Amino acid sequence: MATKRILTGIRPTGALHLGHYVGALRQWVQLQDDYECFFLMADVQALTTHADRPAVIEDAVREVVLDWIGVGLDPTRPNVHFVLQSGVPELTELTVYFTMLVRHSEVLRNPTIKAEMAQLGKKKGPTLGFISYPVSQAADILLFTPYPPRKRDELLVPVGEDQVPHLEGTNVVARRFNRQYEKVFLPCTPLVGEVGRLPGTDGKDKMSKSLGNVIQLKDDPETVRKQVLQMFTDETKLRKGDPGHPEKCPVYLYHRTLGDSATLEDRASHCRSGELGCVECKKDLAKALNAFLDPIRARRAKAEKMPLGDYLREGTEKAREIAQVTMEAVRKAMHLDYPSVFNR
Ligand code: ATP
Ligand code: MG
Repeated sequence: MATKRILTGIRPTGALHLGHYVGALRQWVQLQDDYECFFLMADVQALTTHADRPAVIEDAVREVVLDWIGVGLDPTRPNVHFVLQSGVPELTELTVYFTMLVRHSEVLRNPTIKAEMAQLGKKKGPTLGFISYPVSQAADILLFTPYPPRKRDELLVPVGEDQVPHLEGTNVVARRFNRQYEKVFLPCTPLVGEVGRLPGTDGKDKMSKSLGNVIQLKDDPETVRKQVLQMFTDETKLRKGDPGHPEKCPVYLYHRTLGDSATLEDRASHCRSGELGCVECKKDLAKALNAFLDPIRARRAKAEKMPLGDYLREGTEKAREIAQVTMEAVRKAMHLDYPSVFNR
Protein backbone atom coordinates (compact mmCIF):
# COMPACT_ATOMS: atom_id res chain seq x y z
CA MET A 1 0.00 0.00 0.00
CA ALA A 2 1.24 3.48 -0.87
CA THR A 3 1.69 5.97 1.99
CA LYS A 4 -0.40 9.09 1.46
CA ARG A 5 0.49 11.79 3.94
CA ILE A 6 -0.39 15.42 4.49
CA LEU A 7 1.77 17.89 6.35
CA THR A 8 0.57 21.43 6.62
CA GLY A 9 0.30 24.03 9.35
CA ILE A 10 -0.65 27.37 10.78
CA ARG A 11 1.16 29.79 13.06
CA PRO A 12 -0.73 30.34 16.32
CA THR A 13 -0.62 34.12 16.49
CA GLY A 14 -4.37 34.61 17.06
CA ALA A 15 -7.77 33.22 16.16
CA LEU A 16 -8.21 32.14 12.53
CA HIS A 17 -10.05 34.07 9.83
CA LEU A 18 -11.84 33.47 6.54
CA GLY A 19 -8.53 33.73 4.63
CA HIS A 20 -7.19 30.74 6.55
CA TYR A 21 -10.43 28.90 5.84
CA VAL A 22 -10.50 29.51 2.11
CA GLY A 23 -6.75 29.12 1.55
CA ALA A 24 -6.13 26.18 3.82
CA LEU A 25 -8.75 24.75 6.18
CA ARG A 26 -11.43 24.01 3.59
CA GLN A 27 -9.02 21.73 1.72
CA TRP A 28 -7.77 20.15 4.96
CA VAL A 29 -11.27 19.13 5.98
CA GLN A 30 -11.95 17.48 2.63
CA LEU A 31 -8.63 15.66 2.59
CA GLN A 32 -8.89 14.14 6.05
CA ASP A 33 -11.02 11.36 4.52
CA ASP A 34 -8.20 10.10 2.31
CA TYR A 35 -4.85 10.92 3.91
CA GLU A 36 -2.86 10.40 7.05
CA CYS A 37 -2.90 14.03 8.20
CA PHE A 38 -0.42 15.96 10.32
CA PHE A 39 -1.68 19.46 11.10
CA LEU A 40 1.16 21.45 12.58
CA MET A 41 0.61 24.11 15.22
CA ALA A 42 3.68 26.14 14.25
CA ASP A 43 4.43 27.81 17.59
CA VAL A 44 8.17 27.96 16.90
CA GLN A 45 7.58 29.63 13.54
CA ALA A 46 5.21 32.04 15.29
CA LEU A 47 8.28 33.34 17.14
CA THR A 48 9.61 34.72 13.83
CA THR A 49 7.24 37.66 14.34
CA HIS A 50 6.18 37.28 17.98
CA ALA A 51 9.39 36.56 19.93
CA ASP A 52 8.61 39.57 22.13
CA ARG A 53 5.06 38.32 22.82
CA PRO A 54 5.30 34.59 23.66
CA ALA A 55 2.14 34.70 25.81
CA VAL A 56 0.14 35.64 22.69
CA ILE A 57 1.37 32.45 21.04
CA GLU A 58 0.53 30.32 24.06
CA ASP A 59 -3.03 31.68 24.20
CA ALA A 60 -3.48 31.34 20.46
CA VAL A 61 -2.70 27.61 20.51
CA ARG A 62 -6.03 26.95 22.24
CA GLU A 63 -7.90 29.35 19.93
CA VAL A 64 -6.51 27.62 16.85
CA VAL A 65 -7.36 24.12 18.10
CA LEU A 66 -10.93 25.35 18.72
CA ASP A 67 -11.05 26.82 15.20
CA TRP A 68 -9.70 23.59 13.70
CA ILE A 69 -12.40 21.51 15.38
CA GLY A 70 -14.95 24.23 14.58
CA VAL A 71 -14.38 23.90 10.83
CA GLY A 72 -14.67 20.12 11.06
CA LEU A 73 -11.18 18.68 11.55
CA ASP A 74 -11.56 15.60 13.71
CA PRO A 75 -8.59 14.70 15.93
CA THR A 76 -10.44 11.65 17.30
CA ARG A 77 -9.93 9.89 13.97
CA PRO A 78 -6.92 7.59 13.99
CA ASN A 79 -5.50 9.21 10.83
CA VAL A 80 -5.77 12.86 12.00
CA HIS A 81 -3.01 14.29 14.19
CA PHE A 82 -2.66 17.74 15.73
CA VAL A 83 1.07 18.36 16.25
CA LEU A 84 2.69 21.01 18.44
CA GLN A 85 5.86 22.12 16.67
CA SER A 86 7.84 22.88 19.86
CA GLY A 87 7.14 19.31 21.00
CA VAL A 88 9.12 17.84 18.10
CA PRO A 89 12.81 18.70 18.66
CA GLU A 90 13.76 16.69 15.55
CA LEU A 91 12.35 19.60 13.52
CA THR A 92 14.94 21.93 15.00
CA GLU A 93 17.71 19.44 14.33
CA LEU A 94 16.67 18.93 10.72
CA THR A 95 16.43 22.71 10.26
CA VAL A 96 20.08 23.09 11.26
CA TYR A 97 21.19 20.42 8.78
CA PHE A 98 19.14 21.99 5.98
CA THR A 99 20.67 25.42 6.59
CA MET A 100 23.92 23.89 5.29
CA LEU A 101 22.25 23.13 1.96
CA VAL A 102 20.58 26.47 1.25
CA ARG A 103 22.36 29.64 0.19
CA HIS A 104 21.55 32.94 1.88
CA SER A 105 20.94 34.48 -1.56
CA GLU A 106 18.41 31.77 -2.44
CA VAL A 107 16.25 32.62 0.56
CA LEU A 108 16.44 36.34 -0.16
CA ARG A 109 15.15 35.76 -3.70
CA ASN A 110 11.95 34.17 -2.34
CA PRO A 111 9.08 36.55 -3.28
CA THR A 112 7.01 35.79 -0.16
CA ILE A 113 9.98 36.55 2.10
CA LYS A 114 10.55 39.80 0.19
CA ALA A 115 6.92 40.86 0.60
CA GLU A 116 6.81 39.90 4.29
CA MET A 117 10.08 41.69 4.98
CA ALA A 118 8.65 44.85 3.46
CA GLN A 119 5.62 44.47 5.72
CA LEU A 120 7.82 44.10 8.82
CA GLY A 121 9.22 47.55 8.11
CA LYS A 122 12.77 48.82 8.41
CA LYS A 123 12.71 49.86 12.08
CA LYS A 124 13.92 46.64 13.64
CA GLY A 125 14.75 44.54 10.60
CA PRO A 126 14.06 40.81 10.28
CA THR A 127 15.76 38.38 12.65
CA LEU A 128 17.90 35.51 11.39
CA GLY A 129 15.06 33.21 12.44
CA PHE A 130 12.66 35.12 10.23
CA ILE A 131 14.90 35.09 7.17
CA SER A 132 15.54 31.38 7.51
CA TYR A 133 11.96 30.31 8.22
CA PRO A 134 11.49 28.86 4.72
CA VAL A 135 14.34 26.47 5.57
CA SER A 136 12.72 25.43 8.82
CA GLN A 137 9.44 25.05 6.94
CA ALA A 138 11.21 22.69 4.53
CA ALA A 139 12.21 20.66 7.61
CA ASP A 140 8.60 20.71 8.90
CA ILE A 141 7.42 19.21 5.65
CA LEU A 142 10.21 16.80 4.78
CA LEU A 143 10.44 15.32 8.27
CA PHE A 144 7.15 13.63 7.34
CA THR A 145 8.50 12.05 4.19
CA PRO A 146 7.36 8.48 3.74
CA TYR A 147 10.61 6.55 4.27
CA PRO A 148 12.00 4.90 2.26
CA PRO A 149 10.16 6.88 -0.43
CA ARG A 150 8.43 4.70 -2.99
CA LYS A 151 7.02 5.55 -6.37
CA ARG A 152 3.34 5.82 -5.48
CA ASP A 153 3.82 7.48 -2.09
CA GLU A 154 2.63 11.01 -1.65
CA LEU A 155 3.45 13.97 0.60
CA LEU A 156 0.73 16.51 -0.05
CA VAL A 157 0.84 20.09 1.29
CA PRO A 158 -2.45 22.00 1.01
CA VAL A 159 -1.73 25.74 1.44
CA GLY A 160 -2.62 29.26 0.33
CA GLU A 161 -0.88 30.81 -2.67
CA ASP A 162 1.70 32.75 -0.61
CA GLN A 163 3.25 29.44 0.45
CA VAL A 164 4.03 28.16 -3.05
CA PRO A 165 7.56 29.68 -3.21
CA HIS A 166 8.33 27.94 0.11
CA LEU A 167 7.21 24.59 -1.28
CA GLU A 168 9.33 25.07 -4.39
CA GLY A 169 12.26 25.80 -2.07
CA THR A 170 11.39 22.69 -0.04
CA ASN A 171 11.70 20.53 -3.12
CA VAL A 172 15.02 22.11 -4.07
CA VAL A 173 16.29 21.05 -0.63
CA ALA A 174 14.82 17.53 -0.98
CA ARG A 175 16.45 16.96 -4.37
CA ARG A 176 19.74 18.51 -3.32
CA PHE A 177 19.90 16.31 -0.22
CA ASN A 178 19.01 13.18 -2.20
CA ARG A 179 21.66 13.94 -4.83
CA GLN A 180 24.39 14.93 -2.40
CA TYR A 181 23.89 12.14 0.16
CA GLU A 182 21.25 9.42 -0.22
CA LYS A 183 17.69 9.24 -1.39
CA VAL A 184 15.88 9.97 1.87
CA PHE A 185 13.20 12.51 0.90
CA LEU A 186 10.11 12.40 -1.24
CA PRO A 187 9.52 15.83 -2.84
CA CYS A 188 6.18 17.29 -1.72
CA THR A 189 3.16 18.11 -3.86
CA PRO A 190 1.65 21.59 -3.34
CA LEU A 191 -2.12 21.92 -3.42
CA VAL A 192 -3.63 25.40 -3.69
CA GLY A 193 -7.42 25.75 -3.48
CA GLU A 194 -9.64 27.52 -5.99
CA VAL A 195 -9.12 30.87 -4.24
CA GLY A 196 -5.48 30.84 -3.17
CA ARG A 197 -5.52 34.32 -1.66
CA LEU A 198 -8.61 35.86 -0.10
CA PRO A 199 -8.46 39.68 -0.08
CA GLY A 200 -9.14 41.58 3.12
CA THR A 201 -12.32 43.47 3.98
CA ASP A 202 -10.38 46.65 3.08
CA GLY A 203 -9.77 45.39 -0.46
CA LYS A 204 -6.03 44.77 0.19
CA ASP A 205 -4.86 41.66 -1.58
CA LYS A 206 -4.52 39.41 1.51
CA MET A 207 -6.78 39.04 4.51
CA SER A 208 -4.25 39.12 7.34
CA LYS A 209 -4.33 39.61 11.10
CA SER A 210 -1.51 42.12 11.01
CA LEU A 211 -3.42 44.26 8.49
CA GLY A 212 -6.57 44.25 10.66
CA ASN A 213 -8.78 43.44 7.68
CA VAL A 214 -10.18 40.11 8.82
CA ILE A 215 -13.41 38.33 9.61
CA GLN A 216 -12.64 35.73 12.26
CA LEU A 217 -14.30 32.33 12.28
CA LYS A 218 -15.36 32.98 15.89
CA ASP A 219 -16.76 36.49 15.33
CA ASP A 220 -20.36 36.97 16.45
CA PRO A 221 -23.06 37.81 13.88
CA GLU A 222 -23.11 41.53 14.66
CA THR A 223 -19.33 41.87 14.30
CA VAL A 224 -19.50 40.07 10.97
CA ARG A 225 -22.30 42.37 9.79
CA LYS A 226 -20.35 45.49 10.73
CA GLN A 227 -17.18 44.28 9.03
CA VAL A 228 -19.07 43.37 5.85
CA LEU A 229 -20.93 46.70 5.67
CA GLN A 230 -17.57 48.50 5.74
CA MET A 231 -16.19 46.44 2.86
CA PHE A 232 -14.84 47.98 -0.30
CA THR A 233 -16.64 47.17 -3.54
CA ASP A 234 -16.02 47.90 -7.23
CA GLU A 235 -14.66 51.44 -7.04
CA THR A 236 -16.28 52.51 -10.32
CA LYS A 237 -19.77 51.76 -8.99
CA LEU A 238 -20.54 54.78 -6.83
CA ARG A 239 -24.29 54.50 -6.41
CA LYS A 240 -27.15 52.13 -7.12
CA GLY A 241 -27.92 52.32 -10.83
CA ASP A 242 -24.25 52.54 -11.88
CA PRO A 243 -23.17 49.41 -13.75
CA GLY A 244 -20.87 47.20 -11.62
CA HIS A 245 -18.01 44.82 -12.43
CA PRO A 246 -18.43 41.74 -10.22
CA GLU A 247 -15.17 40.22 -11.43
CA LYS A 248 -13.31 43.16 -9.84
CA CYS A 249 -15.33 43.33 -6.63
CA PRO A 250 -14.13 41.70 -3.37
CA VAL A 251 -17.72 41.45 -2.10
CA TYR A 252 -18.65 39.40 -5.14
CA LEU A 253 -15.56 37.24 -4.64
CA TYR A 254 -16.76 36.49 -1.10
CA HIS A 255 -20.23 35.64 -2.44
CA ARG A 256 -18.63 33.34 -5.00
CA THR A 257 -16.34 31.69 -2.45
CA LEU A 258 -18.51 31.38 0.64
CA GLY A 259 -22.04 32.41 -0.33
CA ASP A 260 -25.05 30.86 -2.03
CA SER A 261 -24.02 29.47 -5.42
CA ALA A 262 -27.65 29.19 -6.62
CA THR A 263 -28.12 32.98 -6.71
CA LEU A 264 -24.65 33.84 -7.99
CA GLU A 265 -25.41 34.34 -11.67
CA ASP A 266 -28.40 36.56 -10.96
CA ARG A 267 -26.32 38.57 -8.53
CA ALA A 268 -23.64 39.17 -11.16
CA SER A 269 -26.12 40.21 -13.84
CA HIS A 270 -28.10 42.48 -11.49
CA CYS A 271 -24.82 44.10 -10.42
CA ARG A 272 -23.77 44.66 -14.04
CA SER A 273 -27.14 46.18 -14.94
CA GLY A 274 -26.99 48.48 -11.90
CA GLU A 275 -30.23 47.07 -10.48
CA LEU A 276 -28.42 45.70 -7.41
CA GLY A 277 -26.82 48.29 -5.13
CA CYS A 278 -23.67 47.61 -3.12
CA VAL A 279 -25.35 48.13 0.27
CA GLU A 280 -27.99 45.51 -0.47
CA CYS A 281 -25.34 43.17 -1.86
CA LYS A 282 -23.31 43.57 1.35
CA LYS A 283 -26.34 42.93 3.55
CA ASP A 284 -26.90 39.70 1.61
CA LEU A 285 -23.26 38.81 2.13
CA ALA A 286 -23.45 39.37 5.89
CA LYS A 287 -26.44 37.01 6.01
CA ALA A 288 -24.70 34.41 3.88
CA LEU A 289 -21.49 34.55 5.93
CA ASN A 290 -23.40 34.25 9.18
CA ALA A 291 -25.26 31.23 7.81
CA PHE A 292 -21.93 29.73 6.80
CA LEU A 293 -20.35 30.49 10.20
CA ASP A 294 -23.25 29.26 12.36
CA PRO A 295 -22.34 25.55 12.32
CA ILE A 296 -18.67 26.46 12.87
CA ARG A 297 -19.64 28.54 15.92
CA ALA A 298 -21.74 25.66 17.26
CA ARG A 299 -18.99 23.05 16.83
CA ARG A 300 -16.46 25.47 18.33
CA ALA A 301 -18.64 25.95 21.42
CA LYS A 302 -18.88 22.17 21.86
CA ALA A 303 -15.13 21.83 21.46
CA GLU A 304 -14.60 24.07 24.50
CA LYS A 305 -15.39 21.03 26.65
CA MET A 306 -13.20 18.56 24.77
CA PRO A 307 -9.75 17.37 25.98
CA LEU A 308 -7.82 19.64 23.60
CA GLY A 309 -4.46 19.10 25.31
CA ASP A 310 -4.79 15.33 24.87
CA TYR A 311 -5.33 15.70 21.13
CA LEU A 312 -2.16 17.77 20.82
CA ARG A 313 -0.16 15.38 22.99
CA GLU A 314 -1.25 12.29 21.07
CA GLY A 315 -0.61 13.91 17.69
CA THR A 316 2.80 15.18 18.78
CA GLU A 317 3.79 11.71 19.99
CA LYS A 318 2.76 10.17 16.68
CA ALA A 319 4.78 12.80 14.82
CA ARG A 320 7.84 11.95 16.91
CA GLU A 321 7.58 8.28 15.94
CA ILE A 322 7.87 9.26 12.29
CA ALA A 323 10.57 11.80 13.13
CA GLN A 324 12.81 9.09 14.62
CA VAL A 325 12.69 7.09 11.40
CA THR A 326 13.46 10.07 9.16
CA MET A 327 16.22 11.43 11.40
CA GLU A 328 17.98 8.10 11.65
CA ALA A 329 18.19 8.01 7.85
CA VAL A 330 19.26 11.67 7.67
CA ARG A 331 22.05 11.32 10.25
CA LYS A 332 23.35 8.20 8.56
CA ALA A 333 23.33 9.87 5.15
CA MET A 334 25.20 12.90 6.56
CA HIS A 335 27.74 10.77 8.46
CA LEU A 336 26.42 12.04 11.79
CA ASP A 337 25.15 8.79 13.21
CA TYR A 338 26.59 8.92 16.69
CA PRO A 339 27.84 6.69 18.30
CA SER A 340 28.55 4.39 15.36
CA VAL A 341 31.17 6.84 14.01
CA PHE A 342 33.54 5.49 16.68
CA ASN A 343 33.23 1.96 15.37
CA ARG A 344 34.40 2.56 11.85
P1 ATP B 1 -1.94 36.32 9.17
O1 ATP B 1 -1.31 37.06 8.03
O2 ATP B 1 -3.38 36.58 9.35
O3 ATP B 1 -1.14 36.46 10.45
P2 ATP B 1 -0.55 34.07 8.34
O4 ATP B 1 -0.30 34.22 6.89
O5 ATP B 1 0.57 34.42 9.26
O6 ATP B 1 -1.87 34.79 8.78
P3 ATP B 1 -0.02 31.39 8.35
O7 ATP B 1 0.01 30.55 9.58
O8 ATP B 1 1.26 31.87 7.76
O9 ATP B 1 -0.95 32.60 8.65
O10 ATP B 1 -0.84 30.68 7.21
C1 ATP B 1 -1.58 29.49 7.39
C2 ATP B 1 -2.21 29.08 6.08
O11 ATP B 1 -3.28 29.96 5.75
C3 ATP B 1 -1.24 29.13 4.89
O12 ATP B 1 -1.50 28.02 4.06
C4 ATP B 1 -1.60 30.42 4.20
O13 ATP B 1 -1.31 30.39 2.83
C5 ATP B 1 -3.11 30.46 4.44
N1 ATP B 1 -3.63 31.84 4.41
C6 ATP B 1 -3.45 32.82 5.33
N2 ATP B 1 -4.09 33.95 4.95
C7 ATP B 1 -4.70 33.68 3.76
C8 ATP B 1 -5.52 34.43 2.85
N3 ATP B 1 -5.85 35.69 3.08
N4 ATP B 1 -5.97 33.81 1.73
C9 ATP B 1 -5.66 32.51 1.48
N5 ATP B 1 -4.88 31.76 2.29
C10 ATP B 1 -4.41 32.32 3.42
MG1 MG C 1 2.04 33.53 6.77
